[in-house]
Amino acid sequence: MMIRFSRCCNPVPGDEIIGYITRGRGVSIHKADCSNVKFISAEKERLVKVEWIKTEELFYPVKVKIIADDRPNLVSDIMLIFSSLKITVTAINATTDKNNIANIDVTLSINNLGQLQEVIKKIKKIDSVLTAKRIETF
Ligand SMILES: [Zn+2]
Repeated sequence: MMIRFSRCCNPVPGDEIIGYITRGRGVSIHKADCSNVKFISAEKERLVKVEWIKTEELFYPVKVKIIADDRPNLVSDIMLIFSSLKITVTAINATTDKNNIANIDVTLSINNLGQLQEVIKKIKKIDSVLTAKRIETF
């Protein structure tokens, strides 16, 4: 049976997950609290209980949004966190508005939920960072 990870919520190992049997396309895996699961749960017979198996070698894309007061070296300080944790960055997009607020979206290759929580905790400690959080939707 074909298994694929849904792009709406991008589950990583450690998240509570649920499988949805699609018509002819195998099973798509969502986070249990994904808003799309709530939407499709009318078709309860298509939902299957799934659990993570050995995943040490696998990586999952996760998007994180960082908001900060812009300053010199902000982005490089953030990138240093990723490299110190040996996390691969697959995409980064940074903009600064007229109030000098930097909006930084990064896509990270994450192995498990603990690693994601650690990187978010470290980003929040960076000088001038206001918030950092996982984004559910691409
Ligand atoms: Zn989903």
